Amino acid sequence: LLPIIYVITPTYSRPHQKAELTRLMSVFLHVPSLHWILVEDATHKSKLVMNFLESSGLSYTHLHQSTPPDWKLQDNDPSWRKPRGVLQRNAGIKWLRRKLRGDRDPRGVVYFADDDNTYSTELFKEMRDTKTVSVWPVGLVGGVMVERPLVSRTATPHVMGWMTGWRPDRTFATDMAGFAVNLALLLRRSDAEFSFTSSIGRMESDFLEKLVTLSQLEPKADLCTKVLVWHTRTERPNMKDEERLRKAGTPSDQ
Ligand code: UDP
Ligand code: MN
Repeated sequence: LLPIIYVITPTYSRPHQKAELTRLMSVFLHVPSLHWILVEDATHKSKLVMNFLESSGLSYTHLHQSTPPDWKLQDNDPSWRKPRGVLQRNAGIKWLRRKLRGDRDPRGVVYFADDDNTYSTELFKEMRDTKTVSVWPVGLVGGVMVERPLVSRTATPHVMGWMTGWRPDRTFATDMAGFAVNLALLLRRSDAEFSFTSSIGRMESDFLEKLVTLSQLEPKADLCTKVLVWHTRTERPNMKDEERLRKAGTPSDQ
């Protein structure tokens, strides 16, 4: 039996939300034993996401957890100003802790997949047998083509550090898309969650410090030479005539 991959995805309402979710769904449908935990940044579950998941054919859990206004990124804020998806990822983790409480041998992997990135099916094969925390390169992030873990070319390859443009001196200089965590390990470390109080760009590193040391990391994707996930970002769609059409009474909901 394959270990289940639990994918935790924060998501929020915007014109292209359903398009993003559809792109993820198209990949996840090719991955066996995957359970999608989709967490809406909202005060309630939306009909749109509910219907989307219901007809997706995926195994899923639908949650909601809103970000307090003080922590919500405003339209004019530069994107690095406030961490995004923090409480949503934690809500996913909490759900796992509750659901699997009392399970003496929880087998699985947890992966945090933002809704706008691009994931290959191979990525999920790589992370499936994660024993502690596995890591791999991420494309199109941090001001470079690829950020990657630096792996020793020894009999027992291990991660020695990080090849990043920005702050390679972080203990774990990886993007959210660049690691997966063994489920039992995550459940054991009850203090492992994401925090708003992490300083800028250190959310991932602070989280991983609660779980492993550098030498325990498992390098995947051909010793971190292959790129299987990209930190793509979607351009905000032009909605300049939407309101006029709406006022004219044309239904335009998805
Ligand atoms: N997100 C959210 N609420 C927000 C903004 C973002 O839940 O107000 C989610 C978003 O859907 C994504 C994750 O948080 O899954 C990371 O956000 P984003 O992709 O905008 O971050 P970036 O690409 O800039 O790191
Ligand atoms: Mn993103």
